[in-house]
Amino acid sequence: MRSYLTYVCLGIAFIVALACTVAAQEGLQRLPKEFEMSFTATTPEEALQWQNAAREKLFGYVEALCPRKSTEELPLDVKIESTEELEVYTKHRISYMGNEGERKTAILTIPKGKGNGPFPAILALHGHGGNEDAVFDDPKVLYRAFADDFARGGYVVLAPSLEHRDYAGMQLWNLIRLVDILESRPEVDKERLGVGGLSMGGEWTMWLAACDLRLKAAIVSGWMCTTEGCLSVPNCQCWELPGFFTLMDVCEINILLAPRPVVFESSLRDPCFPIHHCRDGFAKIRNGYAVFGAKDVVSQDTWDAGHEWHGELAYPMIDEVLKGNAISVYREKNRR
Ligand SMILES: [Zn+2]
Repeated sequence: MRSYLTYVCLGIAFIVALACTVAAQEGLQRLPKEFEMSFTATTPEEALQWQNAAREKLFGYVEALCPRKSTEELPLDVKIESTEELEVYTKHRISYMGNEGERKTAILTIPKGKGNGPFPAILALHGHGGNEDAVFDDPKVLYRAFADDFARGGYVVLAPSLEHRDYAGMQLWNLIRLVDILESRPEVDKERLGVGGLSMGGEWTMWLAACDLRLKAAIVSGWMCTTEGCLSVPNCQCWELPGFFTLMDVCEINILLAPRPVVFESSLRDPCFPIHHCRDGFAKIRNGYAVFGAKDVVSQDTWDAGHEWHGELAYPMIDEVLKGNAISVYREKNRR
């Protein structure tokens, strides 16, 4: 009986492995021969021009799929639905008006015992299958309660629930509305805003920080890779925004964050993103930052784990940029 089961298990494993290999090969066949707008700038001026042109393209692709509503046309209409007093922070459950005219939910936390602020703030983004609670309640695996860590660390934290859509970029307008909400809060210092997320939350972080310059620092966890790397494993295809797919290598969107500080978390055993492709992607991004004279503010945290949050480089970086006087220090660095 045992040997029969063993053969069945081996057979299933073989079929799964074969299916993955076939899917990966089919994926790689779709790799564009060349990209239309790869980053080739050699001066800060050229790099800035490339960023502006690329951002315009990205806005256009998203707009073609879902038209943007301004907050004048469709006010945020933030409502506090319930409040829970925890030891070190107040936890509000809020609702607000999303870009498509549907009310959406989020958790908003305000630090206690440190006056009324204004505080630095972090947007905390969940991944596939997650929600606003997942980033607070999961201390051991995946998210490691990173939103709770920031809330305890003296940050205003805004953690939304956003649904999976055909393309992750289609949440861009809602993500920008979340930054609008942070800016509108009297407890928040609007000059000290950051964003971080894991998995699809890392991808949303990339899209949002690339397109919204109000964000001063970012943590892209478990979602940074080259296009080749993304296609080499059977990943969800929601990153393949129409039009964008042939525009640039997907890792190059992150050059739109330059010269703002960013940490990329790339674990060694993440099955979604093979580490050598993540290292290739980081090298491209770092070269882009170098053109701005800012390669010191971008780092890659690699450690022995699977698809999960780490925080080892990310927390000190965010503290330095959003809590200290380091913003001016980074600006000084970037001028050189
Ligand atoms: Zn997806």
